[in-house]
Amino acid sequence: MLNKPSSVKLSSILKKTELFVDKIFVNGVWKSSNHVFQVTDPATGARIGAMSEATVQIARNAIAGAHEAFATFKDFSVRERSQLLRRWADLIRENSEDLAHIVTLENGKPLKEARSEVLATAQNFEWFSEATPHYSGRTIPSEKPDMQIFSFREPVGVVGIITPWNFPALMLARKVSAAVAAGCTAVVKPASETPFTASAIAYLGQEAGLPAGVLNVIPTQSHTKEVGKELTTNIHVAKVSFTGSTAVGRLLMGQASSTVKRLSLELGGNAAFIVFDDANIDKAVAGAIASKYRGSGQTCICADRFFVHEKVHDEFVEKLANRVKQLKVGPGLNPQTDIGPLINQKAVEKVQSHLDDALSKGGELVAGGHRLKDLGENFFEPTIIIKGNQSMAVFHEETFGPLAAIMKISSDAEGVALANSVEGGLASYLYTESFSRALVVSKKLESGMVGLNTGLITEVALPFGGVKQSGFGREGSEFGLDDYTVVKSVACSTA
Ligand code: ADP
Repeated sequence: MLNKPSSVKLSSILKKTELFVDKIFVNGVWKSSNHVFQVTDPATGARIGAMSEATVQIARNAIAGAHEAFATFKDFSVRERSQLLRRWADLIRENSEDLAHIVTLENGKPLKEARSEVLATAQNFEWFSEATPHYSGRTIPSEKPDMQIFSFREPVGVVGIITPWNFPALMLARKVSAAVAAGCTAVVKPASETPFTASAIAYLGQEAGLPAGVLNVIPTQSHTKEVGKELTTNIHVAKVSFTGSTAVGRLLMGQASSTVKRLSLELGGNAAFIVFDDANIDKAVAGAIASKYRGSGQTCICADRFFVHEKVHDEFVEKLANRVKQLKVGPGLNPQTDIGPLINQKAVEKVQSHLDDALSKGGELVAGGHRLKDLGENFFEPTIIIKGNQSMAVFHEETFGPLAAIMKISSDAEGVALANSVEGGLASYLYTESFSRALVVSKKLESGMVGLNTGLITEVALPFGGVKQSGFGREGSEFGLDDYTVVKSVACSTA
């Protein structure tokens, strides 16, 4: 455990103080509203700033602005869009320390993780800057002798974007960089826990030369439902891209049906982490630490359910517990911190309830297990339980916290069946030194992504997304551009 954190004001720690923006961004203009909501540091509970709150009317204005901007932005040349994204990426890199501090203060994650997130944010803008000039449709041979078919990739239109608090910079970057690359315009509603990261990135976008209306940012807390309804029902929004809980994803999907909007939904995970008897255990332990405890276990691709072959179970558990006990829990701004606070009390209570449930159903604690109230209300030790079984909530529901639950398996088939036994299917992890086992089992796993002998899969070149109730659509890679475009088919008579 590290020292109890002291409270820090966001506006006071930035080198470029203009990056602290507490306003709404609509049609190229920053505006304060009559109402604000407070944003607090999860490490201390201290207020770090008050953000202007968007209403439904402001959401409508933002959508109207984005709609108007789309009429001209869709015809920008790919080179212009590429250069705009490149300048944006450069500005994010130049201001990366400030952005990382904003992320850490709002979200609580250790500064080293916030720095990686900001780097990945810049990489998204850079990658799509490079990809967009090379993205094209097809020339398709017709079945008829006097006909030629072309397919063009056209931007879908105005995109409503709703982002979560766990990667406040990266989630926005993934969606906005691909949308802008495709020629779309966007209205972003960031999570109310982390709105300052979104406004800082938008500020840099404006500096990079974003035309008015191409990006709008409308933070809100008390009008979340109504603003979400507007984004999913307004006739001028062509597509909604959402990352968040499965419950909210279902709601948005229902609402979006009235105007038949295109959707990308990246929802809950509950990832399986499978270790076979021929695995390199040291690698598996390192991967488990990276996958399970990053962001204090608050990522949608976090390993939750560990299935470890009985022959290597004890060695894996012992080595993992030793590593976990060395992790330093503390405030994100402390450079030594490995594990920061959880986002809020509700998150802490969920971890506690999953832990209590597991212990009451035969689970055994081998590391952690306690809240660290001396540090603050939102701190929880990285925790491991063994003797897991399917009756435990942690094996069916996402914990979204630093709790690893381990179950013994005795065959590959058992591991696969257990991994596939949940409603979601975002990521899975598999450790084996056998190429054929890796290939066979990867194909059987019902998840959109598989980490083979790695616990860290995310990068902009990876098509990111889930199957089953983890949602649909892909972010990153060229598939990410597909999601923001529609195919226009032109049949041309050559007679
Ligand atoms: P979490 O519980 O992890 O915060 P949510 O799915 O509630 O996950 O939040 C993800 C994003 O969805 C946030 O930006 C949040 O404000 C937003 N959100 C929550 N409820 C709604 C809703 N009814 N309509 C639109 N957006 C919503």
